[in-house]
Amino acid sequence: MKLLIIGAGPAGISVAETLRKHDTRSSIVMLSSEPYPPYAPPAILEYFQTGQEVHFWKGESFADQFDLDYRSGVEVIALHSDEHSVKLGDGKTLEYETAVIATGSRLHAPLENAEMPGIYNFKSLSAAEALIQKVREGSAKNALIVGAGFIGVEIALLLRDLGLEVTQVEMEDRVMPRILDAETSAIVIDAMRKRGINVQLNTKATAFTGKEVAEAVALESGDTLTADLLIAATGVKPNIDFLDGSGLQTNWGVIVDEKLQTNLPDVYAAGDVAETFDRLTGEQYVHAIFPNAVEQGKIVAHNLLGEKLVYEGAESINSLKHLGLPLIAGGHMVGEELRVKRGESLRKVYIQDDQIAGYRLVGDLRAAGIFRSLMNKRVNVSQFKNRLLRLDFGMGIIQDLALSPHYML
Ligand SMILES: Cc1cc2nc3c(=O)[nH]c(=O)nc-3n(C[C@H](O)[C@H](O)[C@H](O)COP(=O)(O)OP(=O)(O)OC[C@H]3O[C@@H](n4cnc5c(N)ncnc54)[C@H](O)[C@@H]3O)c2cc1C
Repeated sequence: MKLLIIGAGPAGISVAETLRKHDTRSSIVMLSSEPYPPYAPPAILEYFQTGQEVHFWKGESFADQFDLDYRSGVEVIALHSDEHSVKLGDGKTLEYETAVIATGSRLHAPLENAEMPGIYNFKSLSAAEALIQKVREGSAKNALIVGAGFIGVEIALLLRDLGLEVTQVEMEDRVMPRILDAETSAIVIDAMRKRGINVQLNTKATAFTGKEVAEAVALESGDTLTADLLIAATGVKPNIDFLDGSGLQTNWGVIVDEKLQTNLPDVYAAGDVAETFDRLTGEQYVHAIFPNAVEQGKIVAHNLLGEKLVYEGAESINSLKHLGLPLIAGGHMVGEELRVKRGESLRKVYIQDDQIAGYRLVGDLRAAGIFRSLMNKRVNVSQFKNRLLRLDFGMGIIQDLALSPHYML
């Protein structure tokens, strides 16, 4: 097989790594539009937090290790499925027998003038380097972050730790509104404010303003906020523009079937670029998190090997690493809410149809692993529902599970 992997993020790397475990004969070309060896995006924050050198995921010699032809700084600008080829940014053409689209996602900023120079983001190592460079130069004393989703909150904490005055505006009434309920969000906001971050809720930014370079953010209220550093953290969007005219079916992301194959012969997709179904609700959307990208890459590799493996569906799981208080949010906030607060710790479990539909843990995360496992395996928890909030739940896991006649691993 002559395989072309477009993208060298967690999804693309996972395809190559899994394939190579079983197939040493196929040729693999992997392209990345970025000028680096592959890296793990969740680790970027850590590098700048600790001042460590960037440690490239799988090491700098990964291309030799996986026996592949890695070409960085090479962008695909079109896919011609009839000819089984892609067009590159330098005008050259590259042929493939089988292609995997693993181009991930980029910043999605639905604000006027969002393309203006002078607006920073953290969506890639290149983007993060540019932002942190401004901080290191000492030319930025304060920052304004638009959006308080998961990445926005992590950036706020990082920039505050690096000594900047940070203001964060969020149009909803809470931070991380898609994954946190009001109570859990309030704990995060409290911790952020104690760290000196100025969190402004119910504050909708509508445009970046400035002559040639962005200088301020206009709010729906009519007010304007300025800062040395303007940062957009308003969401992500799959990198699919290069697929225009290819005949490949897209919606918000690339549409794939349960084997993660697209509508085009010999083309698969995995990671943030792919619209996959949720393992609990069946809903089709882009689940832009690391473990999904890695798992999808594995499924694609096995299917490239002809195994006809069916994807179990994407999961929803996020954790905040730099809040000073551990927090994890898994699954969905639907159904009956069970809740217990002990000091700084909060545990919430959502039950629907006798199964765990989601959980939110702050402070004490010890039950996270068992909740995730029970949820993903759709275990009927009705027999031990009243024990889910106990501090020792999951500690005597065999006894806990023995209570459930429906439990099957
Ligand atoms: C700062 C940050 C922190 C995060 N923290 C977490 C976390 O804690 N936990 C978690 O689960 N998830 C986290 N995520 C999300 C997670 O990193 C992504 O879900 C994951 O990286 C998706 O992997 P991917 O391979 O699909 O895409 P990406 O990682 O986006 O990689 C895409 C690759 O495609 C290349 N590419 C794009 N377009 C083209 C083109 N036209 N031609 C050639 N190459 C192209 C890019 O250069 C890149 O190599 C974080 C993301 C960021 C940005």
